[in-house]
Amino acid sequence: MPITYRSTRGRESVSFAEALLRGLAPDGGLYVPDAIPRMPLEEACAAGTFDELGFRVLETWLGEEIEDETLRCITQEALNLPVPIVPLEGVWKGIRVMELFHGPTLSFKDFGARTMARCMKHILETRGERVTILVATSGDTGSAVADGFAGQDRIEVVLLYPKGKVSPVQERQLIAERPGVCALAVAGDFDDCQRMVKAAFVDPALAGVPLSSANSINIGRLLPQMLYYVWAVRSLRPAPVRFCVPSGNLGNLTAGILAHLSGMPVSGFLAAHNANDFFPRVLWGGDAAFAPTVRTISNAMDVGAPSNFERLATLLDPGRMRTLIRAERVSDEETIASIRRVYDETGYVADPHTAVGLEAVRRGGGGAAPHAPTVVLATAHPAKFPETVAGALGFAPKEPDRLAALLDGPVAVEDVSPTLEALRERLRA
Ligand SMILES: *Cc1c(COP(=O)(O)O)cnc(C)c1O
Repeated sequence: MPITYRSTRGRESVSFAEALLRGLAPDGGLYVPDAIPRMPLEEACAAGTFDELGFRVLETWLGEEIEDETLRCITQEALNLPVPIVPLEGVWKGIRVMELFHGPTLSFKDFGARTMARCMKHILETRGERVTILVATSGDTGSAVADGFAGQDRIEVVLLYPKGKVSPVQERQLIAERPGVCALAVAGDFDDCQRMVKAAFVDPALAGVPLSSANSINIGRLLPQMLYYVWAVRSLRPAPVRFCVPSGNLGNLTAGILAHLSGMPVSGFLAAHNANDFFPRVLWGGDAAFAPTVRTISNAMDVGAPSNFERLATLLDPGRMRTLIRAERVSDEETIASIRRVYDETGYVADPHTAVGLEAVRRGGGGAAPHAPTVVLATAHPAKFPETVAGALGFAPKEPDRLAALLDGPVAVEDVSPTLEALRERLRA
């Protein structure tokens, strides 16, 4: 029986292909598996490489829909990335940093975007269809999606970002010239970009243009994010691992929970948030209302209303959620202090998001199993945030070659006004 998916708000089940192409369910809910398959843990842990582990795990999820040979090509191409697990020294002994930033755009979002793009291309080929992916972005998602989908047959990407409101490195990553990708610099803010995208999806004048999305609520991005958790468990067996996940929209954490529910042993999860503390407040048992988004220096985690919470709440009842997951909130000042402290005490240079995670761990927010080996997910490369890191340490982090090449390469971007008409015109062209 192939694995089917239903909306968090409804009962009708759809195939993976359908859930992938739709992104959001028609009733506004998010797709979750009807039944979670059992992970072939022994087989996965016996894999010699990360992409082979990826194939063995994803095969149980997608095997009925994407034939093995194709899935193997997809995982070999998309997941051929190093995933080093770096042990910290000194007073930080026992804590490891799993670096998820060795992909082309230097954040963990490359894993999901690259795998999803190739699955989508394959499904479109089978159906003889094409799509245009529309993304509004204020940071890491846009460049990971642009890079992951670039040059994939049958797919075009139109990317909207608020002109002048993303960091210089982020902007260069967004507007790097890529085949099949059109970057639009919107004279407005992120909310304008999002409004334009939402309006385009329901615009009758665009009915003839097949549109899809690739944001972090897409199940196609979530499933590949399970894989590095399994990779860490494989590397540290037989000790049960505790994971610390720098979180915003809660996609990465949800992927870890899915892996656990499918049979991956863990000793717990620690969700590390910045001032956008909706999820810590839920777990602490107090006020659990969404709040307006607050701007911080770990800006990829600036989410006041995390959409994946709806998925988490469907997968875990409140009691289980509280036993399995702890949460911490870290301010900007504490984040800067964390970058400094970790560097002083270990020599490790952390980006602001990873620093939020390290600070959460230092406080011992792990609860139940303080002696379990802890793996902090390093979600971005420090060179993505040179201003903040240099502000904390007094020197800029070393730029990896692939970033330097990108920063020197050709760019392609068009200015547009913040209106549906402007976007419509681009989409029809
Ligand atoms: C997206 C992102 C996060 C937050 O991940 P979620 O899945 O939204 O919780 C954390 N760190 C970095 C660097 C990111 O790009």
